[in-house]
Amino acid sequence: MTLKISVIGTGYLGATHAACLAELGFEVIGVDSDGGKVAHLNAGVAPFAEPGLDDLLNRHVSTGRLRFTTDVSEAAASSDVHFLCVGTPQAGSGLSADLSAVWTCTRELARHLTRDCLVIGKSTVPVGTAERLGSELARFAPTGIRTSVAWNPEFLREGHGVHDTLHPDRLVFGVATPDAELALRTIYEQAIADGVPVHVTDLATAELAKSAANAFLATKISFINAMTDISERADADVVALADILGDDPRIGRRFLDAGVGFGGGCLPKDLRALSARASELGARSVTGLLREVDAINLRARTKVAELARELTGGDLAGRRVAVLGAAFKPLSDDVRDSPALDVARRLHAQGADVRVFDPEAALNARAVAPELTYVASLESALRDADLVLHLTEWPQFVEMDPHWAASLVRRRVVVDGRNRLDPERWTMAGWTIQGIGRPKRQQPVATRTADAAAVI
Ligand code: NAD
Repeated sequence: MTLKISVIGTGYLGATHAACLAELGFEVIGVDSDGGKVAHLNAGVAPFAEPGLDDLLNRHVSTGRLRFTTDVSEAAASSDVHFLCVGTPQAGSGLSADLSAVWTCTRELARHLTRDCLVIGKSTVPVGTAERLGSELARFAPTGIRTSVAWNPEFLREGHGVHDTLHPDRLVFGVATPDAELALRTIYEQAIADGVPVHVTDLATAELAKSAANAFLATKISFINAMTDISERADADVVALADILGDDPRIGRRFLDAGVGFGGGCLPKDLRALSARASELGARSVTGLLREVDAINLRARTKVAELARELTGGDLAGRRVAVLGAAFKPLSDDVRDSPALDVARRLHAQGADVRVFDPEAALNARAVAPELTYVASLESALRDADLVLHLTEWPQFVEMDPHWAASLVRRRVVVDGRNRLDPERWTMAGWTIQGIGRPKRQQPVATRTADAAAVI
């Protein structure tokens, strides 16, 4: 018998997971409390940018193998397995995770159950949540209905979500019973046959695996950002340093890019939630370490904003600043806790005339930072700029011709907040380019006269 699966919470994680489960041949129902999102998904259209997702949605919604609803009772009545994928943002007060969506959807699901089921947590949660989830299900499910809990953390990267879901680099099955392990092995049969390593653990280790993985990635980024401090003071080059460190297979080059730091809907809030949970449990070394990782990351944003002010002669008032990027990373339209948007807002608050261009994220960015001006093209952003800030490393920014860019701006000054522009090329084209933690490359600043730039 083929398992019938529900996915509760169809945001970046859940919609991708649901579509990939349908691709693997399962009958899937996605549940979300947001009716607009459900309407989009039922039309076969992803409500956010994720390469390849529209294609899968389209294909499987049209066959009826995949459908979406706002009514959890449909999922409760029809599914053997429920994946919980609702959001776990940072709580309004303090550093801990806000688990209200987890408890709301758990209770709603439990109340509507008409058959035994396995509930598999996929959201990133503080260690200990799975245990409480088990008690909540037992408390709210009708008498005679048996429920069990497993935890299967997700490691997908936004922008590569479809690929990572279908071809994960590892699988973690936090289980309390052999039946739960068997169900997970059935669901991931294809990936397991492809040789993906499976880690079968207790529930707590599985929950912790995700938080610890994100905290480690954040620590790597903050480590190299801390190295920019000393590189700048010693006139060393942090990019060359990262290349050297990265050639050591024990270290690895990825996540060693110094710059404006990390952001997004996961790393910052997961780091803080782990720190808060560690504090509750009395694990002080974890709390101390992660607080510093977070502080270094936030200082990286301050540093870029200060550099921008310095490069405009100490006063941003009335200066036109081209901000390249609003998404927290390329290939995504996600602006949650985006360093690019944070820096743009700080410059705007100091009186700069900020023009933001992002190939995908302008709509989302406008919703959270309506005070900024969003333009429809790279050219419009660059036109008459006194300063260019490269803050999200979209390929079209990295590959941009500095001569072409020079013909548009008023002053050829660029801050490379991602250290991805080639300093040699940009200097040769007459630019003053300043990376983060890189030696200074000064040119006499070239200027030209202004004309208007199109605004969207
Ligand atoms: P998201 O905000 O995009 O999606 C969450 C969805 O849950 C929303 O669509 C929301 O409407 C829905 N929801 C909230 N309450 C609900 C309820 N009671 N019933 C049904 N639906 C409800 O968030 P996301 O980025 O998809 O993240 C979800 C979880 O997955 C988080 O814990 C996150 O840390 C984790 N995660 C995310 C990623 C990622 O790349 N985005 C990767 C791995 C893990």
